[in-house]
Amino acid sequence: MKKLILKPGREKSLKRKHPWVFSGAVARIEGDPQTGDTIEVRSADGEFLAVAAYSPHSQIRARVWDWKERAIDHAFFNERIKRSVEQRRTLIDVDAADAARLIYGESDGLPGIIADRYGDTVVMQLTSAGGERWRDEISESLQQATGATSVWERSDAEVRQLEGLPPRTGLLRGTAPAEPLRVSEHGLSFEVGLESGHKTGFYLDQRDNRLKVRALAAGRDALDCFCYSGGFALNMLKGGAKSVAAIDSSADALAQAQRNAELNKLPQAEWMEADVFQALRRFRDQRRDFDLIVLDPPKFAPTVSYVEKAARAYKDINLLAFKLLRPGGVLVTFSCSGGVSAELFQKIVAGAALDAGVDARIEHWLHAAPDHPVALNFPEGEYLKGLICRVGALG
Ligand code: SAH
Repeated sequence: MKKLILKPGREKSLKRKHPWVFSGAVARIEGDPQTGDTIEVRSADGEFLAVAAYSPHSQIRARVWDWKERAIDHAFFNERIKRSVEQRRTLIDVDAADAARLIYGESDGLPGIIADRYGDTVVMQLTSAGGERWRDEISESLQQATGATSVWERSDAEVRQLEGLPPRTGLLRGTAPAEPLRVSEHGLSFEVGLESGHKTGFYLDQRDNRLKVRALAAGRDALDCFCYSGGFALNMLKGGAKSVAAIDSSADALAQAQRNAELNKLPQAEWMEADVFQALRRFRDQRRDFDLIVLDPPKFAPTVSYVEKAARAYKDINLLAFKLLRPGGVLVTFSCSGGVSAELFQKIVAGAALDAGVDARIEHWLHAAPDHPVALNFPEGEYLKGLICRVGALG
């Protein structure tokens, strides 16, 4: 068996079942494993710790498949994928949406493997050398576990470069799905672009938060910042908002959002192609105000090294949004930056309210939908955090 031997004392995080081996912890490699090969991880005294996938080009030199000695083969992927897919049936209301995350990487014991269902199509994303090595087996198991008519690959995430893997997209199994795909979520339909959509096509993690925003919208003048294909804006319209303005810098995203509004026979929002940082300043100068604002920006801090810059950006948009809210108005604000903790995000938003000169209270703490579970041994799986804040002085 090919082996990775750790430096003395470097087995602690593996003993706590954290599934990554960083390059700095490695003493030596035995047996000449190739990219993606299965290796045993052993402590400096030779104690067996895990079976893992080897990734010679990545800082994360190995990702754990299992904590006991076992073969990693097609049967392994069948078992894990079936378990993960079945768990979704109890985790989420499968009647409420036909789009869901089926496999969420490390949280499901499948490091670097993401799979999302969009109706009869499963979109798979591999971001690790180990996932890449088992592409065929994984896609076959996925089709078997779900009965999907197609399995499509969207392995074009930037993180693949860190593993030395080229981008790959296209059909893996079954028949090519008719584009665009159409999914439903809490009674609304959305088109999902398989080739061009962000992530695997849609932001599934916001499913339940969109419903919360729908419930806040009746009779309100609402603003959806970073609207992408209209996830929040359509829910504002569905919830009976008096008016909805929605901003994104991408003309393609806005065109998709407009088509999604048509698809649902909803009135159109005021779709605005603009930079949110500038648009909010323009609203401030025009004295245009709102009762409900959603801020769902892209990842400003993918890792902790970007935190300071990201904190300034979050502070900026939250401060401006607070200023644009009428008394009693509601700010629904998110960060999907893995590098910004929930605690830090709350501090940033508190600082923004203070500098905007508003009193605000948190009414809800928001997270990713439950089909994005967080394994307790892998806290890195938690990335999306949000707050619902109401402004206005007490009494
Ligand atoms: N709220 C959306 C997801 C938002 S994703 C949903 O529920 O589906 C982030 C979006 O921000 C992307 O569509 C991207 O085009 C847009 N974006 C990124 N930077 C921007 C900027 N500075 N101004 C406006 N939009 C921006």
